[in-house]
Amino acid sequence: MTETPEDLDPLHQVQQRFRDAATRVAGLKQGLIDFFAQPKRSIAVCFPIEMDDGSVQSFWGFRVVHNRVLGPGKGGIRYHPGLTLDEVRSMAALMTWKCALIGVPFGGAKGGVVCDPKTLSPAELRRITRRFIAELGDNIGPHTDIPAPDMYTNAQTMAWIYDTYDVMHPGRNNRPVVTGKPLDLGGSEGRRDATGNGVVYATERFLERGSLGTLNSLTNARVTIQGFGNVGVAAARLFQAKGARIVALGDSRGAIAAADHQGLDLDAVLAHKREHGTVVGLPGSRSLTGDDLLALDCDILVPAALGNQLNGDSAGRVRARLVVEAANGPTTPAGDRILQQRGIPVLPDILANAGGVLVSYFEWVQNSQNDTWDADLVEQKLARKLHLATDAVLARHFTMSEQAAVEDIGARLLRTAALSLAVERVACATLERGIWP
Ligand code: NAD
Repeated sequence: MTETPEDLDPLHQVQQRFRDAATRVAGLKQGLIDFFAQPKRSIAVCFPIEMDDGSVQSFWGFRVVHNRVLGPGKGGIRYHPGLTLDEVRSMAALMTWKCALIGVPFGGAKGGVVCDPKTLSPAELRRITRRFIAELGDNIGPHTDIPAPDMYTNAQTMAWIYDTYDVMHPGRNNRPVVTGKPLDLGGSEGRRDATGNGVVYATERFLERGSLGTLNSLTNARVTIQGFGNVGVAAARLFQAKGARIVALGDSRGAIAAADHQGLDLDAVLAHKREHGTVVGLPGSRSLTGDDLLALDCDILVPAALGNQLNGDSAGRVRARLVVEAANGPTTPAGDRILQQRGIPVLPDILANAGGVLVSYFEWVQNSQNDTWDADLVEQKLARKLHLATDAVLARHFTMSEQAAVEDIGARLLRTAALSLAVERVACATLERGIWP
């Protein structure tokens, strides 16, 4: 008998998980479930760009707003050759639930351009960005839909977005139209490390609440991190500052493990990565494959790279006591079931990596007030919100698993608790506003 391959389509996964969570929200009408399962608006634009060599190429750009009940759409802009409209739709929906869970007054959105930034010059990227934003016109705005960086876009891209929008709308404060800007243009202190730091604050709270038996603090916890980019680096640093040991790390070229029980020297890893473009080959470390990294004996495994890493094939080999999802969608539904059956809890992405959108919200507030907050204030507010959201998810999880039938694995997932809480909040706000007209 041949087994059906696992469905790894991100939109299917997000919709399946949403529908499962929605059944656990008391009294949610079927019509609202159908409405939340779909994006509110999807825009696809095709536009020409003159390339540096004088040729002309056409590009597709997308912007999807999934929901705006709690506030303007909010979500990143990704530049990637494999980007599809369905993928953007799945990420826009995740943003709705993430914003609702962490308690910021935004809805969910996402966007991007199908292009390969590795083959484009800065001038070409600038023209693509400006033309894309001009094509979107008034479909983005400080009170309607607010972009941010995502994979292969950065503070420079956000500066071009701000400038393009500002040129098109002179005479008013347009800084809140986009977040993740350079500090000089109204970016927030703490934004760069916000996602990685948020991962640590959520983990710390989870442990302090006694959710993992004897491991009730980060002191001496053994942490493995897959992905050593923006999120992985910040998380590694704060984990270590709080007393944890980073026992292994991986990137797209392979992985390394510490040779002794002290853990890796992060400054040495960063210096090696800067020089060689990878963590692999760090003197004194042991080399591993990417698969071995996920199967390493440790306390906390943090996938901080790609989606679908812990799946029906790989989840059975995980030997960590806790998985913390720094990446978006690193665990598949089959991976969730396997980890649950093996007693390994998963702190879900919409909680664990919500620090990024939270500090984006802080940037928007500062821009709207023409104010700047210092780094300590941002960090304090970030930690507090992550702690509160973790508490809320744990409380929901406790109630749900108390009431669940033995065979109902879904009810025992922290992900279902987090999602159902978020869905309930958006549903409640929808009904309080009233279904228009
Ligand atoms: P990044 O591009 O800075 O870093 C990605 C890292 O993953 C790099 O070290 C890369 O080498 C590694 N990687 C790529 N392919 C890999 C593979 N096959 N195996 C192992 N490692 C691999 O990206 P980032 O901003 O750190 O984002 C990482 C994840 O976190 C993504 O899933 C992103 O969607 C998610 N996320 C990021 C933010 C944010 O604020 N940056 C917010 C929320 C979620």
